[in-house]
Amino acid sequence: MPNPVIMLVDDDQSVLDAVDRDIRLKFGQDYRILKATSGAAALELLKKLQQRNEVAALFLTDQRMPQMTGVEFLEQARPLFPDAKRVLLTAYADTEAAIASINKLQLDYYLMKPWDPPEDHLYPILQDMLEDWRSNVRLPFEGIRVAGTLWSPRSHEVKDFLARHQIAYQWLDVDLDAHSRSLVEAHSNGVLKLPVIFFQDGSVLVEPEIQALAQKVGIQTTASLPFYDVVIVGAGPAGLSAAVYGASSGLNCLVIEKQVPGGQAGNSPKIENYLGFPAGLSGMDLTRRAVTQARRFGAEIISTQHVTGIRLQDMYRVVTLSNGMEIVCKAVLLATGAAFRRLEVPGIEQFIGAGVYYGAAYTEAAYYKDQPVFVVGGANSAGQGALFLTRFASKVTMLIRRDVQESSKYLVDAEAANPKIERLFNVEIQEIHGKPGKLEEIVILHRLTGEKATLPGSAMFVFIGALPQNDIIKDLVILDNKGFVLTGRDLLKDNQLPKEWPLERDPFMLETSVPGIFAAGDVRFGTNHRVASATGEGGIAIAAIESYLKTL
Ligand SMILES: Cc1cc2nc3c(=O)[nH]c(=O)nc-3n(C[C@H](O)[C@H](O)[C@H](O)COP(=O)(O)OP(=O)(O)OC[C@H]3O[C@@H](n4cnc5c(N)ncnc54)[C@H](O)[C@@H]3O)c2cc1C
Repeated sequence: MPNPVIMLVDDDQSVLDAVDRDIRLKFGQDYRILKATSGAAALELLKKLQQRNEVAALFLTDQRMPQMTGVEFLEQARPLFPDAKRVLLTAYADTEAAIASINKLQLDYYLMKPWDPPEDHLYPILQDMLEDWRSNVRLPFEGIRVAGTLWSPRSHEVKDFLARHQIAYQWLDVDLDAHSRSLVEAHSNGVLKLPVIFFQDGSVLVEPEIQALAQKVGIQTTASLPFYDVVIVGAGPAGLSAAVYGASSGLNCLVIEKQVPGGQAGNSPKIENYLGFPAGLSGMDLTRRAVTQARRFGAEIISTQHVTGIRLQDMYRVVTLSNGMEIVCKAVLLATGAAFRRLEVPGIEQFIGAGVYYGAAYTEAAYYKDQPVFVVGGANSAGQGALFLTRFASKVTMLIRRDVQESSKYLVDAEAANPKIERLFNVEIQEIHGKPGKLEEIVILHRLTGEKATLPGSAMFVFIGALPQNDIIKDLVILDNKGFVLTGRDLLKDNQLPKEWPLERDPFMLETSVPGIFAAGDVRFGTNHRVASATGEGGIAIAAIESYLKTL
């Protein structure tokens, strides 16, 4: 963090230079001294400081200046840095104006010119004020600041992206904080666009695309080579595990992720059943470790790039990205996992990302402190979400469609023992009410009694199962009737390989109906939808791919 600023303003260059020299001598070590010859020029400098999240400690300005008086400057500078000390430099004739402004703008002091010797007339006064400023000021957060509203889906998207990449940021709620609002308005040209992201280097992104944000924070978004041994689509546990095993075996691996690494597991506040972590570990922690490990072995991982298709070209597989780029490789691993099943309730769309969240308990929980919230679903992911939310919310009501929970016993026991959790069985949601983008209450129906009830709540976190993410390959490889990818022996029907299979040899383990295209994890038929299965399959897929490469 750069030193706090002392801003000096005087239209008389010789006086400005003299005060600058004296102040620099005494305070130059601990403060950055900026000077301007007019109030307008000083205000411009202050706005830049504000953008860079720097801080001003003291303004010292001459009163008598042609376009803008010292008092006028201090008035306008105040909203920018409300805590900065304000000192007016006056001639004897201006003491009236100085005294008047003590009350009007809470002037901290007025100094009479000349101030010689500074050891008597300048330093003790400023020293005292600066000490007072230091003991009361809250120094700004060093890092990225995201200004938005809790009820804005775009703000949620940005927060989620930064949180899942474990990039620290400060949240500025423009609905709750006038200072944040004025900061945002300075970049809005009359139309308030949110979120606005302020970086330490002074640059600002207004309502950015996630890819632009990714590039700005230094996340790799494009492949560095045109050709790889293996392209892995999806950076959930299966894809990341394949990257670790592939790269450590010497294969040139590229992992392409459309959002952020971690996949569904990245949404898990605590994975308690993963081998080797007796106290559990969060999905984000697991992801961070896996990404580091994969990169250490030389795997390349790119985020915010959507694979839109795969085509065959002789012995090569060509992967197309949403930006039009094509990447050629010898083998592809589909590790696209599954996506949250959507809740179907009339009018829900207006609340998505703004009160209704799919699996985002992690990112949003803290914003619902002391408020009642809902969790929809009763399985493991819902239970984890509910338990995590109780750290913040006043009450968590779990809405479960059936009369039993398909969940691990340790989670069911923890839910039952938690006084903040209420579980309602045999219920479904009929209506969602609130203002645009702000959830207020829901209407539920008891499926056995037909009774309806209205429950107040500020947010709803939905965990009602997952659907395979198969859109890029559904016309290329054989799927089961639920859309999961068939691989290896699961392709056999009556002990016969399907007619689409073109080779003499049998498919390798985890190989799909297209040679050289493999699948692992939640997108695959026959997996058991667990982190350990996905990571195991990622490793097995690499062994199978190595066997395949030997056949080329
Ligand atoms: C909230 C929650 C809690 C859970 N808790 C546990 C737990 O405690 N223990 C446990 O064992 N399991 C848990 N699970 C299940 C576990 O997370 C999954 O089984 C596991 O993540 C599956 O891994 P995967 O790599 O196959 O797929 P995913 O984790 O779904 O990852 C797939 C990745 O592929 C990306 N992708 C998809 N399509 C494309 C495309 N076209 N281009 C580029 N990228 C694409 C996705 O964005 C995603 O990042 C939990 C799941 C959830 C949702």
